[in-house]
Amino acid sequence: MDIFIAPVRFYSNLLLQNLVIELSKRFSSQIQIIDLNINLDDFFSVDRRQYFSTQIIAEAIKLTDTFNGKVMLITDVDIFVPVLTFIFGEAQLNGKHSILSACRLHEEFYSGVSNESLLLERTIKEALHELGHNFGLRHCIDWDCVMHSSNGIEEVDIKGKTYCRNCISKVEGYKK
Ligand SMILES: [Zn+2]
Ligand SMILES: [Zn+2]
Repeated sequence: MDIFIAPVRFYSNLLLQNLVIELSKRFSSQIQIIDLNINLDDFFSVDRRQYFSTQIIAEAIKLTDTFNGKVMLITDVDIFVPVLTFIFGEAQLNGKHSILSACRLHEEFYSGVSNESLLLERTIKEALHELGHNFGLRHCIDWDCVMHSSNGIEEVDIKGKTYCRNCISKVEGYKK
């Protein structure tokens, strides 16, 4: 089982490389960057000025349904599902596909000042979180667990950087 990372309208090659390095430390799986031909304009909501993540995932499934492993899209555009103002990511529970948006993980979104190490930490947390859903994990009540839900950036920053002991047992190929 591999983990495929598909950048779609994602502009930080350094962040992408660092994410692959960090995931490679944590998983015994191969982490591969792939190129998917997805036109995000098809999923843009003119009213919301955001992109509908569930539809993007559906498109990714069409393109990668036969892949052996997990497929995570990563984008810089702001994404949403209809019931929420925004989301950091969305994943199929017990499935293969997920999407992660770095739009609101950038510190400059909040304070106007960039912080690359904080951005990387947030991105890893949310990547682990979405992968956890792929492995069947639901939200965890433990604040030290990366599967704790995050509705705002404060909650991303407060929660732990890895899975709790309960959650970790479900994550295939997780080393540390
Ligand atoms: Zn979640
Ligand atoms: Zn947990």
